[in-house]
Amino acid sequence: MMKSISHWIDGRVVPSTSGNSSPVFDPATGEQTGAVDLASVAEVDAAVAAAKAAFPAWRSSSLSRRAEVMFRLRELVDANRKEIASLVTAEHGKVLSDAMGEVARGLENIEFACGIPQLIKGDYSEQAAGGIDVYSIRQPLGVVAGITPFNFPAMVPMWMFANALACGNTFVLKPSEKDPSVALFLAELLAQAGLPAGCFNVVQGDKVAVDAILGHDDIAAVSFVGSTPIAKYIYETGTANGKRVQALGGAKNHMLVLADADVDMAADAAVGAGYGSAGERCMAISVVLAAESIADELVAKIAERIPSIKVGPGNEPDNEMGPLITAEHRDKVRGYVNNAPEEGATLVVDGRAGVPTEGYFLNPTLLDNVTTDMACYRDEIFGPVLSVMRVAGYQEGIDTINANPYANGTAIFTRDGGAARQFQFDVQVGMVGVNVPVPVPVSYYSFGGWKSSLFGDTHMYGPEGINFYTQAKVVTSRWPDPSTSSVDLGFPETR
Ligand code: NAD
Repeated sequence: MMKSISHWIDGRVVPSTSGNSSPVFDPATGEQTGAVDLASVAEVDAAVAAAKAAFPAWRSSSLSRRAEVMFRLRELVDANRKEIASLVTAEHGKVLSDAMGEVARGLENIEFACGIPQLIKGDYSEQAAGGIDVYSIRQPLGVVAGITPFNFPAMVPMWMFANALACGNTFVLKPSEKDPSVALFLAELLAQAGLPAGCFNVVQGDKVAVDAILGHDDIAAVSFVGSTPIAKYIYETGTANGKRVQALGGAKNHMLVLADADVDMAADAAVGAGYGSAGERCMAISVVLAAESIADELVAKIAERIPSIKVGPGNEPDNEMGPLITAEHRDKVRGYVNNAPEEGATLVVDGRAGVPTEGYFLNPTLLDNVTTDMACYRDEIFGPVLSVMRVAGYQEGIDTINANPYANGTAIFTRDGGAARQFQFDVQVGMVGVNVPVPVPVSYYSFGGWKSSLFGDTHMYGPEGINFYTQAKVVTSRWPDPSTSSVDLGFPETR
C-alpha cells in the first residue's frame, strides 16, 4: 500500500488540504512507496501559529524540565535506532550500517543538549561599580525553523532541533521532500519524551513552504542545510526579512596525500570517504590530491580496492554502498563520468558498468589526471565518483584547495607532523582532518565550512548552536536594601 506522509502540527499528524503532493521512491528498486503532501502557505501558517502559541510556556519551563525532555528523547532515540535507520534506508537508500551511523551521530547532539543547564549559563560580575552587579543571560529567540537536505534525514534535523528546543525555542521543521518519513517519527518520539504539543512541528513541502517560512513575521531564525545556490538564496531572503540565518551549502572536499604518507592507509581512507553513502555526503572526499611520486601507487591501490565494495540495496546487511537518491540525480552523476574522458581525464574504474537494472545505482568510479578546468572538478558531483589530481607536493596541493570556492571539509595524509601543522595553519577550510578523511566535528564542537559552503556567521550545533538559538541580554543591577524573606523549611525543588 502506498504510504501517505503528511504534516505534524500541534502534537499530531495533520493531513494536508493543499491538494499537492510529491512521490516518494525506494531508490533501491525505483518503485514509488509513498506520497508526501506539500504544504500550502496556510499550512505553514498553522504550524507557525502552533509554535508561537507554545512558546511562552516552553520558554518559561525550567532548565531541569527541558533537560529531562532531552534525556528522555535520548533514551527513545537510542531504543529506536534500528527503526529510524530503516526509515532512512527505505527512502534515502543508504545502507543500514551507514544509516545507523547517521542516527548515532545525530544522537550525540541530543546528548549535548541534555547539558542545557550548564550550556546556557551567563557571566556575573559582582561590584562592577559601588553596589552594582552586572550579569549576562541568554534567552531563546521564539519560533525557529529548520530546512533540511535529503542526505541526512535524521541527523541534520537533530543538529538543529535538539539545541533549539533545549534553549527554550519552539521549532518548525521543513524536511526534504525526498525522504520525509523520518521527521514524523522523530516528532512522535519528541511527544513521547514529554515535549508539549506545538513545540515541535513538521511541515512537509517544497519551495512554497520554504518561501512561506522565509517571509513569515513570526519566525525569528532559520537554519538551513543543503546545496550552495539554495543556501545563498535562504541567507539573502531570510536576512532581508530580518531573520537570523545560518545556511550551510555544498562542498568539494580535497584529500591531500603527501609523498611520505602511508599509501595503504590513504587508499583505505579515500575509498571509504569517497564511496561511503554513494558519495552523497557533504563531507565526502571528492578529490584526491596525490603527490606525484606516490600517485601511480595510490591510484593502483584505490582501484584494486573498488571491486570488493558490495553495492546493492541498503536493507541487505552485507551491502556497503546503496543507490543514489533519484533517477535524475543518478543520470546527472553519470553525465560527469560520460564527459570526463573527453575533457582529458583517465577513466580508471568505470562505475557505469554492471549496475543493477532496477533502482538508481551507479558503481564506484575512479578518475585520474583530473585538472581544475574540468566539470568533474569544478562542480559538486555528489555521487560515487572519486577524482585524482596529481600535484608536485604540499604547495601545489594547498594552493589548489585554497583556490576552490567550496571550503567545507578537507584532509591531509602524511607522517610529517610539521607538514600537518602547517596545513592546519594554511588551509582555508572550516573542518580539517589530519589522517582522518571525514572530520565531522563531535557534538561539543561546531560544524560548518567557510566560503561558499556556509552563508552566515554561526556554525551549526555545539557551542555555536547554543549561541545561534539564543540572544544575549546584559543586566546592570543595584539593590539598595536587603529584600524581605519568609521561612520555608521544605527542600527546594527546581520544577
Ligand atoms: P537542496 O538544496 O536541493 O535542498 C535542501 C532543502 O531546500 C530541501 O528541504 C528542499 O526542499 C529545499 N529546496 C530545494 N530547492 C529549493 C528552492 N528552489 N527554493 C527553496 N527551497 C528549496 O539540497 P539536497 O539535494 O537536498 O541536499 C544535497 C546538498 O546538500 C548537497 O549540495 C550537499 O553538499 C549539501 N549538504 C551540505 C551539508 C553541510 O553541512 N554543509 C550537509 C548535508 C548536505
